[in-house]
Amino acid sequence: MVTHEQHAISVRAGEGATRPGILCVVRYDKNERMRRALKTLGFFWALAVASVPVVIAHFVLVPGFLIAGPFLAFRKFKAETALEKALGACPACDKEISFALEPADVLPKWTYCPRCNASLQLAFGRK
Ligand SMILES: [Zn+2]
Repeated sequence: MVTHEQHAISVRAGEGATRPGILCVVRYDKNERMRRALKTLGFFWALAVASVPVVIAHFVLVPGFLIAGPFLAFRKFKAETALEKALGACPACDKEISFALEPADVLPKWTYCPRCNASLQLAFGRK
């Protein structure tokens, strides 16, 4: 089962003002993590089978996909949470902003305001 969580974060402009924000996180239970891992494993092993007819390159592609499949599936299985997005108001320009985050991103994270291009830091907790 997939559950969506929200956590309080702070959005700070450089060394200046701070605004509250919301971090949206997806949490996966054990069954869902296993399903995602098997999907990843199947995808990479299907790529290995599909790359067999590729002349010369199959000497690298087939073993590469066969080895990468279990490694990436294990990483998917170990990932209990994935960051989704961050919401908040930019302290520099006062406009509502939304950041798409990579699942493997870690807070504190430096980024830029998509509206005014100010340097922003996303961090846990409100200050
Ligand atoms: Zn801004």
